[in-house]
Amino acid sequence: MNQIPVAKPVLDEQEVEAVRRVILSGWVTQGPEVAAFEEEFADFVGARHACAVSNCTTALHLALKAVGVEAGDEVITVSHTFIATANAIRYCGAVPVFVDIEKDGYNIDPDLIEAAITPRTKAIICVHQLGMPCDLHRVVAIAARHSIPVIEDAACATGSEILWKGRWEKIGKPHGDIACFSFHPRKVVTTGDGGMLTTANPEYDRKFRLWRQHGMSVTDAVRHGSKQVIFESYPELGYNYRMTDMQAAVGREQLKRLPAIIVRRRELASQYAEQLYAAAGVAPPIEPSWARSNWQSFCLGLSLDLDQHDVMQELLDQGVSTRRGIMNIHLEAAYAEPGSHRVATSLQQSVLAQQHSIILPLFVQMTASELTSVAEAVKASVCAPELAIEQVG
Ligand SMILES: *Cc1c(COP(=O)(O)O)cnc(C)c1O
Repeated sequence: MNQIPVAKPVLDEQEVEAVRRVILSGWVTQGPEVAAFEEEFADFVGARHACAVSNCTTALHLALKAVGVEAGDEVITVSHTFIATANAIRYCGAVPVFVDIEKDGYNIDPDLIEAAITPRTKAIICVHQLGMPCDLHRVVAIAARHSIPVIEDAACATGSEILWKGRWEKIGKPHGDIACFSFHPRKVVTTGDGGMLTTANPEYDRKFRLWRQHGMSVTDAVRHGSKQVIFESYPELGYNYRMTDMQAAVGREQLKRLPAIIVRRRELASQYAEQLYAAAGVAPPIEPSWARSNWQSFCLGLSLDLDQHDVMQELLDQGVSTRRGIMNIHLEAAYAEPGSHRVATSLQQSVLAQQHSIILPLFVQMTASELTSVAEAVKASVCAPELAIEQVG
């Protein structure tokens, strides 16, 4: 039996041709393809500025620096996210402050933010986990009351939408101050590795462009195009967070595919929901009325009496790959050191979500019959009597 994978990128001859064109052009990093990709991405999400970088982790680092996060500051976020969200905070010498997620989803619980704010709070990073928009209305309103900037970790949310003042808008406009995207192969569109920062603030955008290229005062494009000799200078500490033109060329092809990718992912997610909503022992994800996910991942809640590992093994035996729910950063050894983070609330929902959810296969090439066989395997696995942990009473 063929194994059904959890995810699969959509890459084809168009991407091969795009990379070929760039290689033969002789300009292979942060050149015309990167500029075009930025423009097209900004257009797609409705952002004033988009700046391409090497990945979403470096995007988050630059976003935090741009809003002024420094050593000793605190940044409120969730533990229930990929480790990069908090690592970027630590790159600034700042302290990630973890609050819990909502009971009925995998995103930050806005009710918990206010009590976690201290005089040292310099930013909030809210995550659109699994592609599902978090409750930006409330996060942004709370942040505004305290004059704290909001950075959206939109790594998974390219193409996701939120109902904003009566209109559907793309995540990344941005609705906070800065949004950060990832183009890792596990996301809905990929450039191998890659990231993007979007903002309405021209000063932030200027800083991103300076810092991503060693803090160099003049870009290669400007120097190359100049009829006069220009000497560059290095006014401040920068980084090498560039995206290559090969990556950007792939990204431009991926953007062309994106609308169709999202249509297909939404079809597949609604088929899952239809086939699983009545099944005992599982809880399909909830999409709030003001959110439209890109369904980067379809995360299925398991009832507390089911053993996640056994369910996943049972599914694997039936040819279905799954992943466990999103990790919790505060439980990792890299965060064991006191001072590496602060826990501001109970993280009970976060821990429950990690232990009692699984991510099901969802990829554009997936057929209706593959989806049905996954749904059937799930129903069989959660019903398998030997899996039920012995119940007391
Ligand atoms: C994937 C991911 C990242 C990191 O993205 P990279 O491009 O791999 O650096 C950050 N945050 C979240 C929520 C992610 O899912």
